[in-house]
Amino acid sequence: MNSNKKKVAPVAENTEIKCQFFMLSEFDSPDVPGSGINMQNQTLLLLDRARALAGIPFVINSGFRTEAHNRRVGGAANSTHLRGFAADIRCANRANFELVILALVAVGFKRFGVHHNYVHVDNDPYVPSSTWLYERSNIEQNSRLEFVRAALKMFEFMQRV
Ligand SMILES: [Zn+2]
Repeated sequence: MNSNKKKVAPVAENTEIKCQFFMLSEFDSPDVPGSGINMQNQTLLLLDRARALAGIPFVINSGFRTEAHNRRVGGAANSTHLRGFAADIRCANRANFELVILALVAVGFKRFGVHHNYVHVDNDPYVPSSTWLYERSNIEQNSRLEFVRAALKMFEFMQRV
């Protein structure tokens, strides 16, 4: 018997976790009820923490996506939604957008896609940090993107000092 053999913890995936603010069904791919179970635990935990910080409701436009649903909504072929690392959060107005972004940045998200009525966020470890626009840029869109980048820069700075 090799008593030194260490038990390796299973990858924390696909097990139901308790969120304070979300039901797993909010992350379902609309074509498969119950598929929100495919969300990554760490993603859910960060979203829950950000939601607590922001103090306003996070309406999830899109969480986990099946291949079929991702194609239907025109998602990228390798979308992080397919692996349960992503959420699109509705942002009804600029003030909500800023609060949501600050909270998401504060808990450690580094990938943001900016749309005029939602923000995409993910923590997929297999893709590089990035910020981008979904639509043709205009003054408001650019200003939202600048806000995200400024928030990331400031939190990064605060972690160094
Ligand atoms: Zn998205």
